Amino acid sequence: MEHPENSSEYKGLVVNDGVEQPSIVNPYLQRGRFARRRLTVDDYVNGILDGNVTILGQAVTLVESTNPEHQAIAQQVIERCLPYSGKSVRIGISGVPGAGKSTSIDEFGIHVLERTGGRLAVLAIDPSSEKTKGSILGDKTRMEKLSVHPDSFIRPSPSAGSLGGVARKTRETIILCEAAGFDKIFVETVGVGQSETACHSMVDFFLVIQLAGTGDELQGIKRGIMEMADGIAINKCDGDNVDACHLAARQFQNALHLFPMPESGWLPKVLCYSGFYGYGIKEIWDMIYDYVDFVKANGYFEHRRAEQAKYWMYESINEQLRNGFFQNETIASLLPRAEESVLAGQKTSFVAARQLLDTYFALLKN
Ligand code: GDP
Repeated sequence: MEHPENSSEYKGLVVNDGVEQPSIVNPYLQRGRFARRRLTVDDYVNGILDGNVTILGQAVTLVESTNPEHQAIAQQVIERCLPYSGKSVRIGISGVPGAGKSTSIDEFGIHVLERTGGRLAVLAIDPSSEKTKGSILGDKTRMEKLSVHPDSFIRPSPSAGSLGGVARKTRETIILCEAAGFDKIFVETVGVGQSETACHSMVDFFLVIQLAGTGDELQGIKRGIMEMADGIAINKCDGDNVDACHLAARQFQNALHLFPMPESGWLPKVLCYSGFYGYGIKEIWDMIYDYVDFVKANGYFEHRRAEQAKYWMYESINEQLRNGFFQNETIASLLPRAEESVLAGQKTSFVAARQLLDTYFALLKN
């Protein structure tokens, strides 16, 4: 097994006491002087509150770590940062691969930074990155302008764990970013499956990027994405594609009328734009700022955040119960046999599950 000090995760947890790295001419001479030390909870919290992005990045590494010791520190850091969080506007950006998310986020990010100043963090929820080994979302190389902007912080999706785990880490990262003074948070997600629901449940505005003429229009309606969207943006409205985009926009707008008025009282808008050429970006952000003003005035902004906090409480309970169960050694040793019995038709799934749960709860009592 790799020594923990050699792992990249461990490296994320140490600093150089603020001293510049020694040259590599003769590292041995420098060893004592430049000895690295572990950061304390105070170091993390103070660094984050100072807006230090290096320490913020290291704290996020801690949040993403599965090591229980790291997790314990991470939870303390999060708890201490919590009073300083919540002051940002959180925007979810969803779209199928190829919809133009990274191109758009690069442009959106520059637009909002120029328009309102402040600082922008780009985070992601991409549970598929576990399978593909390496996150595809939030990758710095895909956002050329933002990646070199002094007021942006880009963090790829945590690359391990279930959707619930990945989403929790992203949510905790939002808290740290806000405490570090990031007043705009983008959460990027792939337009497939449950990750959209998870993203929707942690943002103030959920923007769905769609393409014209791919049949996605109807698919979107089926998947219930229309109910989640606060705005739909049809991308690649340039060149020969302009008419098709406007047609798609009309179809989406008509479809939206089939749904009941959202609880926010805001009827989602459909806009066309080109992330690549920068057309229509201002209009998208006019819409988002109008929405934020609207829901802040009618109280829905706070209501949605409170509901989200409740949702995440239940999600955390579910996650911890599930982890406790599956990480239990006795249960882990009984599972393969139970699986075999179910596959062989000797036991129903329900009975097998019941027996395992009874065993687990009996173990907890002892
Ligand atoms: P993602 O997978 O959703 O992040 O999509 P990307 O941003 O990587 O874009 C996918 C492809 O679409 C790339 O080849 C982009 O150059 C192209 N693309 C993105 N935005 C636009 C646009 O507004 N117009 C056109 N014509 N192409 C675009």
